Amino acid sequence: MTDMPHITLLPVGNPDRRALDDLAQDLGGMGFVVELARRRALPQRALDAKRGQFHADGLLGLALSARAERVLAVTDVDLYAGDLNFVFGVARPNGKACVISLFRLYLDADEERFRGRALKEAMHELGHTFGLGHCADPCCVMWFSNTLGETDRKGASYCPRCEETLRLARIRSSGLSK
Ligand SMILES: [Zn+2]
Ligand SMILES: [Zn+2]
Repeated sequence: MTDMPHITLLPVGNPDRRALDDLAQDLGGMGFVVELARRRALPQRALDAKRGQFHADGLLGLALSARAERVLAVTDVDLYAGDLNFVFGVARPNGKACVISLFRLYLDADEERFRGRALKEAMHELGHTFGLGHCADPCCVMWFSNTLGETDRKGASYCPRCEETLRLARIRSSGLSK
């Protein structure tokens, strides 16, 4: 059990404290060792005032600069990237950091549904940091969801194939670092 991946949750902006605690607990239930870091201010350079959104890369940069093994930044503001109107999250593939936004997850959601969405977005972006790509299994959390409906439909876990890819990636990376 000592090789459970360590995740640092980095609140950026003003994400709901309760949502952070729930997410930390739920990621713990998925086999991650989770630590909650001190809140960071939003990088104002990343704000596009006209859009009323922050560029996801600005928050990713903040997460990358944090001194931690693997960072999941969680924010309450709406994010965009590239030519996409919005993103639920972004990740540095095979890297140490990813970001999710809770902003859109509240839509038409009771507490339980919101909590499930946050966990799925977190698991999805973390999967990318472990080198997983998108998965063709619509129940797998690595399925690319374009809409909240798809997020609600898919599961919060990695499918057996993604799980295996992840296991092999972790063996490889621990072999390199030791
Ligand atoms: Zn993805
Ligand atoms: Zn999968």
